[in-house]
Amino acid sequence: MGMCGLAMAALFHGGWARAAAPAGNNATALLAQADAVKTTDRPRFLQLLQQLHRPDTVLSPDERWRLRYLDGWEGSFTGDYATAEPLLRDVADHAPDTDLQSLAAGTLLNILAISHHYEEAFERADQLTANIPRIRDRRVAYKALSQLSQLMASAGQSEPARSYALEMMQYAEPGQSMCRPYVYLFGAKVADDTLPPTDPIFHQAVDACTAAKEPMFADTVQLDLARRLAETGDPKAALALLKRIEPTVNAQGFQVHVYVLRSTFGYAYWVSGHAAEAKHWAQAALAMDPKGNFDGLSEHVYRVLYEVARKAGDYRTALDYYRHYRDVKARSVSDAQAMALAYHTVQQQLSLHKLQLEELSKHNGMLELQQALDRKEMEASRLYLMLLLTVLLSVAFWLVRTKRSQLRFQKLARSDGLTGILNHQHFVSEAWSALRHAEKTSRDACLALIDLDHFKQINDTYGHATGDAVLVRTVKLCLAHLRPIDVFGRLGGEEFGLVLPDCSVEQGVEILDRIRLALADLAIDESHPDLGISASFGVASTGASGYELSKLMADADAALYRAKRGGRNRVETVTEPG
Ligand code: GH3
Ligand code: MG
Ligand code: MG
Repeated sequence: MGMCGLAMAALFHGGWARAAAPAGNNATALLAQADAVKTTDRPRFLQLLQQLHRPDTVLSPDERWRLRYLDGWEGSFTGDYATAEPLLRDVADHAPDTDLQSLAAGTLLNILAISHHYEEAFERADQLTANIPRIRDRRVAYKALSQLSQLMASAGQSEPARSYALEMMQYAEPGQSMCRPYVYLFGAKVADDTLPPTDPIFHQAVDACTAAKEPMFADTVQLDLARRLAETGDPKAALALLKRIEPTVNAQGFQVHVYVLRSTFGYAYWVSGHAAEAKHWAQAALAMDPKGNFDGLSEHVYRVLYEVARKAGDYRTALDYYRHYRDVKARSVSDAQAMALAYHTVQQQLSLHKLQLEELSKHNGMLELQQALDRKEMEASRLYLMLLLTVLLSVAFWLVRTKRSQLRFQKLARSDGLTGILNHQHFVSEAWSALRHAEKTSRDACLALIDLDHFKQINDTYGHATGDAVLVRTVKLCLAHLRPIDVFGRLGGEEFGLVLPDCSVEQGVEILDRIRLALADLAIDESHPDLGISASFGVASTGASGYELSKLMADADAALYRAKRGGRNRVETVTEPG
C-alpha cells in the first residue's frame, strides 16, 4: 500500500549515472546513459538496454551488476514483479558496490510492500538503514531515506517515518527544495493522526512545494489541512482555504483531489450551518464516483447528506444515507464484528489494489503518449512526467490513510466518532462485563447516567460546532476524573453512561459531584466567555439495585429524571432500595 508513490519516487531520483560517467569503455558509457534517461526518454532507454544485452557487448563483472539492476528497475517500472524481484534481490545482496546495492534494495522495498511481503520489506529496510552511512553518492542516500520513510508511513509507523524524513533534509543537496522532505514528514505525521491544524508542518510543506512549483504536493497537504480545520471547529477557515485551492485542484484534474475537495467543501458548509451548499457539494462528490472507488474517502459525504436530509424532514433519504455512512465508518455487531472486520479489510484491500492498477494503467497510457512526443517537446514532456510522478505520490498518501483506517478499524468500530470514548453498543457490553466481574468478586459498583443541561439551547445559541466542542470538552474533563477501570461511554446526543467498579454509592456520589462542580467551572471557548454548562447525574448502585445492567440503567434513569425535575445541575441517587 502506498507504494505507488514510493516506487515512483524511486524511479524519479535517477541513479549513479549522474555522478560523471567514466567515458572510454563503451559498455560503461551505455549503462550510464541508460540510467540517466530511464525516466525521461523511454524509447532510448529500452533501445540502450537491448544494445547492452546483445551478445557482442562485452561486460565486466561490475557492468553486469549494473545491467542487472537496470533490468530489475525496468521490471518494477512495468509491474513485472516476477522478473524484477529475483534480479533486485540478487543485486541488493551480492553486488560489490554499496550504492548499487542500496538502489536495488530501495526499488525492491516497493515491490515487497506492494505484494504484501511486509516481513521481508522490514528486514530489508533494516539492512538498507544500516548501509546508509556507507553510501558514497548523497543522492542515492537521499532516495533510500525517502523510500524508507514512505514504507514506514504506509505501515503506520509514524516515528521511524518521521526520522527518515528528517534525515532526508540532511542529505539534500545545497539549494535543493525542501518540498519532498516536508511532504514525507507530513506523511509521517498523518500516519499518527493526532495532527492539529496548527502544526507548522502544513505551512512548511505548502510553502516549500509552492516555491518549488509542485502544486499537487501542496494540494495534498492543503486538502488535509482544510478537513482538519472543519473537523476541529473552524469551518470558516476551512472554507476560505478550500476556495483558495479550488482553481488549482480543478486545473490539475487529479480525481482523488477533486473528490476530497468536494467532500470537504460539503462538510465545512454543513458544519457552518449552510445546508443547501453542503448538500450541493456532497452530491457533486458522490456524482464523481458511481462505482464507489472512493468509498474509503466518503465518510463526510454520506454524513452530510444524511444530516441535511434529516434536517429537511426527508427521513427516508436520511435513513438511506445514514446506512451508507454507518457502513463506511464502521461495522460493529458484537459477534458479527470480527467477520465484518475481515470483510471490510478485504474489501478495502481489493479497492486499493484496483486503484493502484488503475493508476498504473493510466501511467502506462501517459508513457505511450510521451513516446509520441518528438524530441523538441522533450523538455515539456519531462515536465509532464514529473507531474505524473507527483500525482502518483499523492495517491500514495491517500492509500496510506486508507491503510491506516484498516489498522484502526477495530478501535473505530468501538468508539464514538466525536469524543473517542465507547459508543452506546460497546458501553453496554463493557458495562455488562464490569458488572459480571463485580458480581463474581462480590464488590460494589455504581452506574451513573450523565446528561448535559439545556444542551439544545447551547446548540441554538452558539451553533452546532460549539455544541460539539462542548461535548468533547465534557468528555475530556470527565476522563480526567476517572480511573482506567471505569467504563465510560456516549449513549447518544449529550447523554453519557458511566460504570464505577469498586465503588460504594457514597463514593460514587462524591466523584460525580466533583465532576459536576468542575463542569460548572469549565471555560469552553474564549470567544464565548458567557458560555457556561452544567449537567445532571442519576446514580444507581449494585447495593440498592443488584447487578443486572437493565435494572441499574432504569434506576439511574429515574434518578436522572429527578435531578432534572429538581432544577438540574445536581446528582441524584435511587431513593428506594431495589
Ligand atoms: P435537558 O436539560 O432537559 O437535558 O435539555 P436538553 O436541551 O439538553 O435536552 P434535549 O434532549 O431536548 O436536547 C438535546 C440536544 O442535543 C438536541 C440535539 O440537537 C443535540 N445533539 C444531539 N447530538 C448532538 C451532537 O452530536 N452534537 C451537537 N452539537 N448536538 C447534538
Ligand atoms: Mg440534556
Ligand atoms: Mg438528553
